[in-house]
Amino acid sequence: MNTRQCGDGVQTSILQTSLYNFDQAARRLALDDAVRQKVLGPKERIELNINPILSDEKVINVKVFLVRHNDVLGPAKGGIRMTPDVTLDDVTGLAMEMTWKTSVIGVPFGGGKSGIRFDPTSVSANTKEVIIRSFTRGARRHIGPEIYVPAPDMGTNEMDMAHIRDCIAYSQGTSITNGCFVTGKPLILGGIAGRREATGKGVVYTILALCEKNGWDLAQMRVAVQGFGNVGSVAAVEAAKHGARVVGVADITGGIVNPDGLDVDALLAHVKATGGVRGFPGGTDVDGRAILEMDCDILIPAASGSQITGENVDRVQARVIAEGANAPTTPEADEVFNRRGTLVIPDILCNAGGVFVSYLEYTQETQREQMTLAEVEQRLAERMSLRFQEIHAMSEQGGMTMRDAAMNMAVSRVVEGIFARGLLP
Ligand code: NAD
Repeated sequence: MNTRQCGDGVQTSILQTSLYNFDQAARRLALDDAVRQKVLGPKERIELNINPILSDEKVINVKVFLVRHNDVLGPAKGGIRMTPDVTLDDVTGLAMEMTWKTSVIGVPFGGGKSGIRFDPTSVSANTKEVIIRSFTRGARRHIGPEIYVPAPDMGTNEMDMAHIRDCIAYSQGTSITNGCFVTGKPLILGGIAGRREATGKGVVYTILALCEKNGWDLAQMRVAVQGFGNVGSVAAVEAAKHGARVVGVADITGGIVNPDGLDVDALLAHVKATGGVRGFPGGTDVDGRAILEMDCDILIPAASGSQITGENVDRVQARVIAEGANAPTTPEADEVFNRRGTLVIPDILCNAGGVFVSYLEYTQETQREQMTLAEVEQRLAERMSLRFQEIHAMSEQGGMTMRDAAMNMAVSRVVEGIFARGLLP
């Protein structure tokens, strides 16, 4: 892959953002060109066509993408994105992000990702299951506890992970798989307590660590959240639990604001009943984009990539951006935040709680062990807080942003792994 410059004001893709951030880290670390190329990868980037037969006997064609970006530190790890517009480039950028995330959070995984180009909201649960099983059979030889271990991402959930595991076990004629083929499974099938909440809670643990560092009180803060799915809704609930006022929330249906604070539990019930935040009686409806620009202290982008760009960054008022989503800030916007002193807790640290708990699920299944929710939450809180402190200290000592410090740590660990493994094969 070639790295290229960003910052031209044109729409920046997730892949461009990932390449730009890597390029900057490679320069700061003065990587030798051969090492740089090896780290840049990706190791494997594939596109498949699957042809599931639906219940009305119609055969459809669905594009599937799977990228193993880097597996120097362990099997590639990363979720399955199921959206109507996901591209191979998006999956490549997201797989690269996973390499840095697993490295930063200190679990023995590499980075991977897959994409299924399909709108899961347009079909029944049965049809989605047919597509997920077809994906599993089509991508089977690229999935395994020592190769690539998927998890949920946008558009997929724990039921989909259960179907993947069942499909593999069924094809082997066994009850269970030998080792962990997929994380984010339901508890009843070997999932781990607290996995679904881990990313959103991890986001708030990094915010709490920042507050502690600066002598701030989260209970005095106003928080806005873009995206009210797995990550955003849990982050909103957890922030409210610590006393923060959640003053605005957006999802795909629109935005809802209340300067006195939204009742997050009631909002969750409304979303469950109606399918979106729009029309919530405890707030005022606004355009979804307005949430990014509203008056608040902490903004948690937790929807998709490239949301804060050169076009809207000047209108973003929050003084802290906690990146729940992957690559929500383009390099151009990042530069503006840096110039004006807006602190960004970078995605590869901020939303790494999910992959950390996925690792606990992986070890639990491998060792046929069981961990309690209290154990998982304690380990998650400790790891998020520790890594936050280390990266914050690196950024202060080196006069760098937290993103630059986190990228330096992530890339250095992968490079160390390359030299420790020696020449391959
Ligand atoms: P999800 O599908 O559960 O939720 C996505 C939410 O974003 C939904 O509420 C949707 O309505 C909303 N949304 C989509 N487009 C939007 C837009 N243009 N404006 C406003 N809202 C919009 O997905 P998720 O698992 O919560 O993932 C959200 C982000 O977090 C993604 O970037 C994902 O890659 C990242 N992430 C997820 C995890 C995880 O464990 N689920 C881990 C790390 C990072």
